[in-house]
Amino acid sequence: CKHNGRHNFLFYTPNMNQYHDHQISIEGDLREAITRNELQLYYQPKVNVETGYISGMEALVRWNHPEKGFISPGEFIPIAEETGLITQLDEWVLNEACRQNQQWMEAGYAAERVAVNVSANEIQRTDFAEKVNRVLQETCLDPQFLEIEVTENSVMQNTDQCIRTMQDLKTLGVSLSIDDFGTGYSSLSYLRKFPIHYLKIDQTFIKGVLHDPSDSEIVKVMIQLADAFKLEVVAEGVENAEVLQFLQENHCAYYQGYYFSKPLPPEEMEKLLTKKQTY
Ligand code: C2E
Ligand code: CA
Ligand code: CA
Ligand code: CA
Repeated sequence: CKHNGRHNFLFYTPNMNQYHDHQISIEGDLREAITRNELQLYYQPKVNVETGYISGMEALVRWNHPEKGFISPGEFIPIAEETGLITQLDEWVLNEACRQNQQWMEAGYAAERVAVNVSANEIQRTDFAEKVNRVLQETCLDPQFLEIEVTENSVMQNTDQCIRTMQDLKTLGVSLSIDDFGTGYSSLSYLRKFPIHYLKIDQTFIKGVLHDPSDSEIVKVMIQLADAFKLEVVAEGVENAEVLQFLQENHCAYYQGYYFSKPLPPEEMEKLLTKKQTY
């Protein structure tokens, strides 16, 4: 933007231009991807640390681009957030996760809760709980089989509004998780005010528990903290048996991670769901 003055030239590099073009191309494509069915949900099981049984799943969005192939959410979610497309994207995800879960139940699979990630922009909207309610009605999913994951940082902006929305969701019967716990800056007093059910310990801490004494201490303290606040705790990014054993020894309730399963397409996730007992 040249008319803003020559100082801008100092910051202008070909690299930035490339990044900008890339962003514009993803933005245009993403707009269409939502309507063209190029988005897909994968599901990662949540597992009970003690029993090894599946006790829920997290829906994670995937974009199968016609030319570029799979684009990871780490790349397109930030662009969706900057451009406002996240509203449509998160709504598509919410709708699809509820629809799929209801379909599994109707097909005779034992009921499991599905967790959906929601961006900061969305959880801060005054009409968010209303939107969730509408999707639940439309898909006929019982609210107890839906969970909303919000990151610690996203609820530290407009906190009062977020707490109201979380309370409305709780009243609907939907569960709530604080995601990436430990990476943000929420204080204990806020944690007490959030009407949440789960704390998800960020994978950066879990990855270090075996070789970094400070990570293992942090994880132990978070598990105790969750216990004191009567919250269930979920460890993310568990990749091997040794880490799982650490979690068992420290009485962590649930885990997710490649050790049990990567996020799976619906057909694969379905194989892990148990059929309801029929008599
Ligand atoms: P997240 O919610 O913290 O999700 C966990 C990420 O860790 C996922 O990456 C998952 O595939 C990955 N993961 C799970 N287990 C392991 C493990 O054992 N080792 C390693 N190295 N990674 C593991 P993914 O699917 O690429 O998603 C990245 C982020 O994108 C998510 O982080 C979430 O913040 C965002 N995201 C994904 N789907 C959605 C969505 O539908 N809506 C919104 N708003 N954000 C989403
Ligand atoms: Ca998550
Ligand atoms: Ca996380
Ligand atoms: Ca994350």
